[in-house]
Amino acid sequence: MPARQVPLTWEDVEDFAKAVALRWIGRMDEFDNVWGVPRGGVLPAMLVAKRLGKPMVRASERNGRTLIVDDLVDSGATWNLLGRPEMFDALVRKTHSPPDAASAAFLLDGWAVFPWEEDEQFGPEANVTRLLEYIGEDPSRDGLIDTPRRVVKAWVDMTAGYAMDPALILATTFDVAHDEMVVVEGIEFSSLCEHHVLPFTGTCTIGYVPGDRIVGLSKLARLVEVYAQRLQVQERMTEQIAHAIEEHLQPRGVGVVVRAAHSCMGCRGIRKPSARMVTSALSGFMKDDEKARSEFLALARASNGIH
Ligand code: ZN
Repeated sequence: MPARQVPLTWEDVEDFAKAVALRWIGRMDEFDNVWGVPRGGVLPAMLVAKRLGKPMVRASERNGRTLIVDDLVDSGATWNLLGRPEMFDALVRKTHSPPDAASAAFLLDGWAVFPWEEDEQFGPEANVTRLLEYIGEDPSRDGLIDTPRRVVKAWVDMTAGYAMDPALILATTFDVAHDEMVVVEGIEFSSLCEHHVLPFTGTCTIGYVPGDRIVGLSKLARLVEVYAQRLQVQERMTEQIAHAIEEHLQPRGVGVVVRAAHSCMGCRGIRKPSARMVTSALSGFMKDDEKARSEFLALARASNGIH
């Protein structure tokens, strides 16, 4: 589920720009001109520059006495890229933005949609269009016309796990006097490597030795989805699955083995599509008891097709 959208009006933009100007009116002797961060910051910068009676400058004319204005500070990536300038402001910021980036800007909870972005072609989709242009493609040709929309939708689908709650999925448990190992093997998943945002796909085998409670098998498959449908590294995903079972089922031991092919290794870089990565996380009885551990690992190996 993407962040909640907050549509901003032209009046909002004018009000925020006025607030920026008011924040800088007492420091007029510290800067000579104003520059807007492309592309969203250009219009806000013009509004601010006009209110303060300072000229706008081109990117190449920017110097230590330039007030930099952006429409929004989110993660602070742009601000970092600019070398964390002190003379920087923005219309709005987020609670998670770096504290020093436009610290007095209006705090916005959600995904800001500026009036010039309302058409989806100019929302996050516009960034996909830019990428297509960057690799020399023509985003207006037939086959690509809908691609930006599809890519954004695919990203949203593939990261649906952020909105899923493992506690909720593992909430329905059964009291069972069962102290043998429970194993669900070969749970298929597809995840996204966070370094390249390319899929890695494979299977996950989960085993646990119950404490007082067990959980329906389909819940374990859903649990894998919670952590697979995010930007991930396989090692962390493996740990997270094991940890969630530990936390919510309090078993005597847990084991998770994940085996996956990474398309970032298959279709780029060293191009080894059949290489598989195997990761495991073991805890409690499953880790400490030699017999339980080897029994589980043998099962996991067999179910993952490893001999
Ligand atoms: Zn990768």
